[in-house]
Amino acid sequence: MKCLVCGKPIIFNDKCYRCSFGRPKTYCSDHCRDFTKYFNAMVKHLDQIELDDEHKRKIRGDISRVGNSLKFPTIVDFSTKRP
Ligand SMILES: [Zn+2]
Repeated sequence: MKCLVCGKPIIFNDKCYRCSFGRPKTYCSDHCRDFTKYFNAMVKHLDQIELDDEHKRKIRGDISRVGNSLKFPTIVDFSTKRP
């Protein structure tokens, strides 16, 4: 089984992991579990907040900033220029 957030294999330390928590572990760490918990909470609460356009733009910028902080190891060249 792999972590739903990062894709790393989940290591089970006890033989009966289903018995101790009632359902299978789906995250490799507290960080991945908390990421999912707080992301879902953010989505749920954002839907319930009445926002004017100014504050919609502010929140959109904040969310974009978080997404842009994810760096990819390879650079893909989409240019149509030929060398
Ligand atoms: Zn993970």
